[in-house]
Amino acid sequence: MALFSPPKYVISVLNRLECKGFSAYLVGGCVRDLLIGRRPADWDVCTNALPCEIMSVFEHSRDTGSKHGTVTVFVGKSKVEVTTFRSDGKYTDYRRPESVTFIPDLKGDLARRDFTMNAIALPLSGLAFDPFGGAVDIENRLIRCVGEPNQRFNEDALRMLRALRFSAVLGFEIEESTLEAIGENSLLTNFLAAERVCSELQSVLMSSKPELISQMISLGLLTRYIKDTQEIDLAALAALPKSRAERWAGLCALLLQSKMISNPEDFLQSLRLDSSTVHKAACGVKLSLSEPPSSKLMWKKLLSRHGTDCGKCTAAAADALYGTEHTKKLRSVISSGECYCLKRLKISGDELLELGFRGKRLGEVLYELLDHVLAHPNDNDLEVLLSLATDIAKSDGL
Ligand code: ATP
Ligand code: MG
Repeated sequence: MALFSPPKYVISVLNRLECKGFSAYLVGGCVRDLLIGRRPADWDVCTNALPCEIMSVFEHSRDTGSKHGTVTVFVGKSKVEVTTFRSDGKYTDYRRPESVTFIPDLKGDLARRDFTMNAIALPLSGLAFDPFGGAVDIENRLIRCVGEPNQRFNEDALRMLRALRFSAVLGFEIEESTLEAIGENSLLTNFLAAERVCSELQSVLMSSKPELISQMISLGLLTRYIKDTQEIDLAALAALPKSRAERWAGLCALLLQSKMISNPEDFLQSLRLDSSTVHKAACGVKLSLSEPPSSKLMWKKLLSRHGTDCGKCTAAAADALYGTEHTKKLRSVISSGECYCLKRLKISGDELLELGFRGKRLGEVLYELLDHVLAHPNDNDLEVLLSLATDIAKSDGL
């Protein structure tokens, strides 16, 4: 028995197409996930209806790539991507086909898909169409190319990264000839846009098997970003919190330690990671490499200067490098709720305005009060802080 079943709005889309005389199937990741017993992330439908026919069947639909046969159908607040059966034309840049052709048959559509587990079609009748043996591969937890692996990776190099991503996320093995072909074609990933590489790499990093990044490196899939292809022990990453910046900090710390990158910021920027994540992760790595603060007060000072997010990245990088024993103090300060930043200070700029402080001086006094609270946590109380601020106002002559 399947654990999950398609929601009503998805069923209604399949139903409607069938009622109008078209064939319609669930296809791709959602069928794979249903068979595995995972909740599908999104629902894709394929059909023999042409894009213009799909749009005439559904009042609320939008052309979101009809050149590739895709129409988005809206049902209430939900949406389903409906794609016409197609076959891909010639590939010339290792990324995407020069043209696509709409075709009448389902098998041809499934043949263009990457892996057997992603090439199963499920109609409303519930009888799966599985011409490439995807269900057996799912049962054996195997990732296998549809067709000849060398050719499929030559067409689109992203498929190699997807194989590693599915292996990490689903915990599946990569079938032997598929893996061999990845090793032979890995350098073709140099033709891919950095954003697409980053997205697959990040999915591996955030999975429960982030150590597979070592295999991505040794297979040569990341040579544009990490020159070295030696194996590296990344086992420590799996224990880090599932937060993007913290995991990137952990990865950078280990790569830096092994001299596989020379500068975390440059490395992350080359992957076109967003600037806020780059800043937090790189700051965390840098702080983790300096002498750790000797006291709780010093940890709080560090946090007040760099903020909670950089603090968490510092802990993640240090955990990856030295083990969690070293960062207990830092993590306990962050989770204790103790005040180390203006946000947690019980007095704000409004009260200081009332006491007569203005502009730059107001900011200085807030930080003076914060410094006081770092050393005297019990004084983080509005009345106590008001009285301290009043004393400062008097000595300022206000
Ligand atoms: P996810 O769970 O991440 O959504 P998915 O397999 O559904 O995984 P999508 O990117 O949503 O991935 O793609 C939907 C389907 O389109 C895939 O299952 C596969 O059949 C096909 N597909 C996607 N990308 C490729 C590709 N690069 N080459 C061949 N087929 C692909
Ligand atoms: Mg999907």
